[in-house]
Amino acid sequence: MEHIVVIGGSLAGLRACETLRQEEFVGRITLVSAETETPYDRPPLSKKLLAGEWEPDRIRLRKTDEFESLGLDLRLGVRATALDGDARSVELSDGTTLPYDGLIIATGSAPRRLFTQPALDGVQELRTLHDSLTLRDRIADGTARVVVVGAGFIGLEVAATARQKGCAVTVLEGAPAPLVRALGMEMGIAAASVHGRNGVDLRCDVQVQGMEGADGRVHGVRLANGELIPADVVVVGVGVLPAVEWLETSTLALRDGIVCDANLFTGLPGVYAAGDCVRWPNLVFEGHDDCEMRVEHWTNAAEQGAAAARNLLAADRGEEQTAYRAVPFFWSDQFDSRIQFVGRAHGGDDIHVFAGTTDGPFAALYGWEGRLRGVLGVSMPKLVMPFRSLVAAGASWDDALAKAAELSS
Ligand SMILES: Cc1cc2nc3c(=O)[nH]c(=O)nc-3n(C[C@H](O)[C@H](O)[C@H](O)COP(=O)(O)OP(=O)(O)OC[C@H]3O[C@@H](n4cnc5c(N)ncnc54)[C@H](O)[C@@H]3O)c2cc1C
Repeated sequence: MEHIVVIGGSLAGLRACETLRQEEFVGRITLVSAETETPYDRPPLSKKLLAGEWEPDRIRLRKTDEFESLGLDLRLGVRATALDGDARSVELSDGTTLPYDGLIIATGSAPRRLFTQPALDGVQELRTLHDSLTLRDRIADGTARVVVVGAGFIGLEVAATARQKGCAVTVLEGAPAPLVRALGMEMGIAAASVHGRNGVDLRCDVQVQGMEGADGRVHGVRLANGELIPADVVVVGVGVLPAVEWLETSTLALRDGIVCDANLFTGLPGVYAAGDCVRWPNLVFEGHDDCEMRVEHWTNAAEQGAAAARNLLAADRGEEQTAYRAVPFFWSDQFDSRIQFVGRAHGGDDIHVFAGTTDGPFAALYGWEGRLRGVLGVSMPKLVMPFRSLVAAGASWDDALAKAAELSS
């Protein structure tokens, strides 16, 4: 290969470029990204950057000289609009066609929007640096009434940061509990209880009917029961969708993400994918009901970017490829509480709290059919990571209980 194209200039795309160079690929690398910024870190967008404690320079993923040393042909502010796998080329929004020998797709995910979401000033999502700086201005003096739609991780982090700035904050969630999708009902309520203690009005089981405004500015969120929640700022945090619409005219298999094999190979010659946009069989969970997964976490994007690059080169060099097997891991900071999770969680899992109590710091095991599936810690940093290797090894529930007893004694 002489020319590798990477689409998506965020964490997974950056790690792919770096790995290509580390693995001694000396040919041309073109990095195409819809954003005009060089790669930056998203987790602080809802935390330190939003709070005004950090400035944008601090969240750059690489210093200018480190980034320049990769020798990339940079195409920032340009969107990929179509992929032609037969011709081995990508169409770009500036009207050019970019031929490739190898391609890594790392277009991540983009916020889901509400059906009823109007174009009113004060209503926004949070995904980019620009979104975060806009919201930061809106909450900076602590006088705004903030309504967050959606009690997922990003929504709850925004709620915590806005409340710490002094804003009155209401969170509206359609499910019966916060964080249900990530942690299940019981643990979602426990992990988010820090919000009640800090004066956030967290309302579950409510349906948003629409938003109301005057002179182009939002002034409230209307619920299905008729109630109007006054708002100066509305943040819509109802999840993300994989950013793959530009691939709909290609022959790639799309099913809530780009369907890849265990090596992150898409099935099209020379085309691999990495990060939030990927659905792949994670062999760590072979035999579980959810072995094929798409993961929206920082660690996964970083590791997959590197893995996709290595496998693309290995295939070209006639070497053996390595399946990307990993135990998902994420963290979330809300008020003084740090939530961490390794593994997977589902509604019907067996749950065992093995340290602390659910009205404060605690740690819990998640099990399925006699096997350990995941571990949650709320402000219990030392009790989560030791289980990562157990989940990877497919440990039994009994072994997990024994380890939990040892750690908490
Ligand atoms: C506010 C916020 C807080 C978060 N906090 C945490 C946390 O605490 N812990 C955690 O584990 N994870 C967290 N995450 C998730 C984590 O940041 C993501 O999993 C990670 O950014 C995914 O990286 P990625 O490179 O796959 O995709 P993305 O970061 O989504 O980047 C994809 C890039 O591709 C570009 N792109 C999209 N379509 C095209 C196209 N057609 N052509 C060209 N370019 C395109 C996009 O503009 C973007 O720059 C957070 C995310 C957000 C938004």
